[in-house]
Amino acid sequence: MQSTASVLSQLKSNYPQFSFKLGDNFLWSPSDNTIYYDKSIGFRPVLLLHELAHALLVHNSYDRDIQLITMERQAWDYTKELAPAYHITIPDDIIQSNLDSYRDWIHDRSTCPICQATGIQIEKSVYSCPACSYQWRVNEARTCALRRYELKT
Ligand SMILES: [Zn+2]
Ligand SMILES: [Zn+2]
Repeated sequence: MQSTASVLSQLKSNYPQFSFKLGDNFLWSPSDNTIYYDKSIGFRPVLLLHELAHALLVHNSYDRDIQLITMERQAWDYTKELAPAYHITIPDDIIQSNLDSYRDWIHDRSTCPICQATGIQIEKSVYSCPACSYQWRVNEARTCALRRYELKT
């Protein structure tokens, strides 16, 4: 497997339309057309490619949390297509763990704090409970931070 530094320099020359910058997380930021990467949580080429996939798929906005899972799945599928050109292999458990973390996150957000029923997202940051009618706000969606990422390779 290639070093991330070498993959990074290849990506910079292959995709001059995007900026690549050191940041607090691995993150595709449409507003400044930048792919951020983080050295602290595993400075891994696969994560760089994953954010690049989001960028190339024009994952710039969404309306409902559930769409994020679809976008994640699409991004991983595309990451797999990009990977061979950079001699990168992607263990399936990384993808599963990442998708699971999104499902857990959505489950937490959508659970009614009063009665624990599953709420319905009625606006980008508002859920409503069909059982008790309680409404609650959620914060802005998470970034593509891969919190359960445990890369063993
Ligand atoms: Zn409720
Ligand atoms: Zn992602």
